[in-house]
Amino acid sequence: MSYGPDISKWDRRRRYEQKHRDLGLCSQCSEPAVNGTSYCEKHLVSHRKHMKEIYEKRKAERLCVHCGRPLHEEDENYVCHGRSSCKPSRRQI
Ligand SMILES: [Zn+2]
Ligand SMILES: [Zn+2]
Repeated sequence: MSYGPDISKWDRRRRYEQKHRDLGLCSQCSEPAVNGTSYCEKHLVSHRKHMKEIYEKRKAERLCVHCGRPLHEEDENYVCHGRSSCKPSRRQI
């Protein structure tokens, strides 16, 4: 039984990223990654820009900037504080 070309492609991609992480290289290219991140300087800039866009979009739509869920009246700073539903992934930020 075959998993099809898409799955194996995805799997190769995962392994490629894992290998790069292990070697301390950027996950998007083969440049050395900036300490504590999985991006080189160039891709770190575009990654941060992308994260900022998500942040601004969520703020504009009054969603939690961490998990993207709709905020309640009492929530401050655009984060659904203390709610078990909010599980921000630090690795993605
Ligand atoms: Zn890169
Ligand atoms: Zn949240």
